Amino acid sequence: TDRAAVAEAGLHLEIRGLTKRFGPFTALGGVDLAIREGEFVCFLGPSGCGKTTLLRAIAGLAPQSAGRIVQRGRDISRLPPQARDFGIVFQSYALFPNLTVFDNVAYGLRNRRDDRGRIRERVAELLALVDLAGSEAKYPAALSGGQQQRVALARALATEPGLLLLDEPLSALDARVRVHLRGQIKALQARLGVTTIMVTHDQEEALAMADRIVVMNHGTIEQVGTPAEIYRQPASAFVAEFIGSMNFLEVRPDGAHALRLGRRRLDCPAHDCAGDEHARLAIRPEAVKLCAMNEGLSARVEHIEFLGAFLRVGLTLAETGQALVADIAVRDAEALGLAPGASLGVLLPSEALRLYPGR
Ligand code: ATP
Repeated sequence: TDRAAVAEAGLHLEIRGLTKRFGPFTALGGVDLAIREGEFVCFLGPSGCGKTTLLRAIAGLAPQSAGRIVQRGRDISRLPPQARDFGIVFQSYALFPNLTVFDNVAYGLRNRRDDRGRIRERVAELLALVDLAGSEAKYPAALSGGQQQRVALARALATEPGLLLLDEPLSALDARVRVHLRGQIKALQARLGVTTIMVTHDQEEALAMADRIVVMNHGTIEQVGTPAEIYRQPASAFVAEFIGSMNFLEVRPDGAHALRLGRRRLDCPAHDCAGDEHARLAIRPEAVKLCAMNEGLSARVEHIEFLGAFLRVGLTLAETGQALVADIAVRDAEALGLAPGASLGVLLPSEALRLYPGR
């Protein structure tokens, strides 16, 4: 289905076997990735996973050691940055401090020698687009961090690039501005339909903004998928652990579609660890169900945290002594008479279980 969709929408970017070495260190180990026309893609991963290096390779700012980058059918692998078709916004301090907002936004237009009337028109249009109409004469130092990033966005979009690259554009801003601006960027991107790649280490940001997320680890791609796919069907234990909260229980696979938790046997239809001696069973806290003592696995309540919309319940499984976290509605907790020290039953619905090989 992925291939059919790519064919239909048209490919914007095709990356094949992209490798980047810094001396003996491999920052990117043969990355393959296809990005559709008009898509908003986030590169997500922990510090050092190579997401910035991948973005910089696409921009031509960190030429690859091996591999190919094709944009709209054109091989750009060997082109210098100025010959590639993209606009870029960096984390911070990227505006020219000695130029006004007008001159910052006009920069690329002057470089390509647009005429003065056209530049004035285009800058006004762009500043309106980022909600900064009337700020032409200000200097960057007179603007808030969020306003500066909006100017940087206007500047990046000025020459109507085919590709917009965003390198952690929100991470230097405070939380409230960040959430507001991410909504603005997303709306703007959808309206313009410009293919966009954003680097972030913030999973919430990626889930909120991306059409597809590329999860990276140690210079390779762990999974590419929509936010819902990444959250519901993490392809590896790394992704499962990195996105959202996840419980992991050590289990022993038992035949084709079952496993053992201590002496208990659990059904696990999505079982894919047959033949492995050890596996980790993963389940989201909100998928764990609590019930009366005589049903399910018995467990003891260790602590309860009130988190406003729900309660986070820390449990110990009686069978194995393993810890488990359940997020449950306040109303359900009251019905169960939940309190620290109480014993109760735990249900692990089979459709919510994921199984990963190894310990
Ligand atoms: P962060 O969020 O910390 O920026 P990242 O995922 O963006 O992390 P990169 O900046 O892409 O990671 O770096 C990937 C790896 O490559 C890191 O281990 C980094 O130390 C290394 N690296 C990056 N640039 C260079 C360089 N110029 N010389 C040597 N090593 C580098």
